[in-house]
Amino acid sequence: MLTYEQARRTVIDQVEKAKGPRATATLGVWDALGFVLAEEIKTDREYPPFNRSTRDGYAVRISEIAVGAALQCVAEIKAGDTVTQPLAPRTCVQIMTGAAVPPGADAVVMIEHTTRDGDSVRFDRPAQSGQNIVLRGSEAQRGETLLSAGMRLGYAELALAAQVGATQLRCASKPRVAILSTGDEVVSIDQEPGAFQIRNSNSVSLAAQVRLAGGEPVLLGNAADRADDLRDKIARGLREDVLVLSGGVSMGKYDLVEAALNELGAEFFFDAVAIRPGKPAVFAKCGGTFVFGLPGNPVSTMVTFELFAVPAIDVLGGASPRDLPLVEARLAVALSEKPGLAHFLPARVVWRGAIPEVKALPWQGSGDIAALARANCFLVVAADQGQVPVGNTVPILLRKDVI
Ligand code: AMP
Ligand code: MG
Repeated sequence: MLTYEQARRTVIDQVEKAKGPRATATLGVWDALGFVLAEEIKTDREYPPFNRSTRDGYAVRISEIAVGAALQCVAEIKAGDTVTQPLAPRTCVQIMTGAAVPPGADAVVMIEHTTRDGDSVRFDRPAQSGQNIVLRGSEAQRGETLLSAGMRLGYAELALAAQVGATQLRCASKPRVAILSTGDEVVSIDQEPGAFQIRNSNSVSLAAQVRLAGGEPVLLGNAADRADDLRDKIARGLREDVLVLSGGVSMGKYDLVEAALNELGAEFFFDAVAIRPGKPAVFAKCGGTFVFGLPGNPVSTMVTFELFAVPAIDVLGGASPRDLPLVEARLAVALSEKPGLAHFLPARVVWRGAIPEVKALPWQGSGDIAALARANCFLVVAADQGQVPVGNTVPILLRKDVI
């Protein structure tokens, strides 16, 4: 059985091997959040475009401000003012944050370090050359590539594009991810379930996870635990880049997903991973579509999607696979788990002292969505670690959607 790291590697390798060029679309910066850029964006000019003051204060020549010396303030420069006039000898000018520093000035002294009396400004400490000035071109040269193909567009990347005037961005089209749940007990979320039925919450979590990962969910509803219905609905899903199924991959008599995929000619890369929850996770390729058969218990579905489907969406979308958001925390309450599988336990991390502190939350196992909704991370217990004492450093997998 593969470890979860090996299973992720398998996914990344297979998807990288198979992916072709992606269709692109041009989007306005307002609409491009979460897309992957498919072109280079170059700067239109130097940044900053002029020597910019980073403080409210006085532009001076440092050689003229011996401590206690006074200079006459002869002008005021606001952000946006046109500045061409050099600083006259033995004078200073009052300057605002974001304004252009006049030629000849080599420092800006913060207003807090000065005393003003009429037009006379006294400096209460020495200044260093260049202080509080960001020189023209020091952030970027004209024509420099600041955003390149494959970068995911977050808020800073979009701001950077906007800064350089790139208001239209060529982006990779999002991978289309079909979502199909399975199970005779599952009813659609707008239906009133019978006493022994459950609502299709997995389609909702999966659609949200697909969106967060940068994919476009395509909802296919639910298939009954019957070979013909499964086959028809899986066949529909195979029109998309990725098909994610929930349920029907365990050992039960009515777990028919693998058989249905097999009949449709799927090539299987793994059908079990050494994790709990989520052990029976399946990864296959059928035609040109990558298929994830995830176990149906909701927490298993969520964990396995994060571990295995997210990197596939990254790579298909033209980006590099993101690393898992694993960080270290100090265990606040001792743990005892059965060794043999790596455990992903719903947990809550708090940042109090120097290192974050985590504790696993009480839960009823992989069906317990309420426990996961109280969690902001998964506590990861390695497969060879049954007992973990208080104070140990443990890895946690952050739920980036809520942190
Ligand atoms: P399975 O993996 O098909 O054996 O499903 C395991 C359990 O997960 C089922 O007994 C249900 O309680 C639950 N489950 C399956 N499908 C869904 C779904 N679409 N939404 C919510 N829970 C589900
Ligand atoms: Mg089932």
